[in-house]
Amino acid sequence: MEYMAAKMDVQKNIALVAHDNMKKELIEWVKVNKGILKKHFLCGTGTTAKLISETVELPVRAYKSGPLGGDQQIGSRIAEGDIDLLIFFWDPLEAQPHDPDVKALLRIAVLYDVPVANNRATADFILTSPLMYNEYERSIIDYNKLMNKRTKETLLKE
Ligand code: PGA
Repeated sequence: MEYMAAKMDVQKNIALVAHDNMKKELIEWVKVNKGILKKHFLCGTGTTAKLISETVELPVRAYKSGPLGGDQQIGSRIAEGDIDLLIFFWDPLEAQPHDPDVKALLRIAVLYDVPVANNRATADFILTSPLMYNEYERSIIDYNKLMNKRTKETLLKE
């Protein structure tokens, strides 16, 4: 497999998502880390973004609510290369109506080598990493090369 670099700037695009039972925990984490987070660009699923904007007073670009397609919108932003970090506190104790979307978001984040925090400890480790203050190159699959190869292989079979 061939890989190419996806550059992250010092100022990062951070997506914030929390399931209902985890929203308090995420808001608390954002409050504690407001000083760091305000230096970056924040976005999130609808309800999470609204709650953070209102309670922590940080600008958070809101996508649709998770069950209405917000997770998929964030996944598409990852595929476009517009998200650098995903802080996603999903509920480990309750099934969600949009569980397939949750799985899809986690998959696309892994595919695009996006750092993901699914709990507070991981979020703390990410936010305190020296890499938060530097540029960084994620390593993503070079799909153009892969597609060219697959196209050639398919044509050869004909
Ligand atoms: P919400 O969506 O922020 O709109 O609640 C989160 C989710 O359930 O994925």
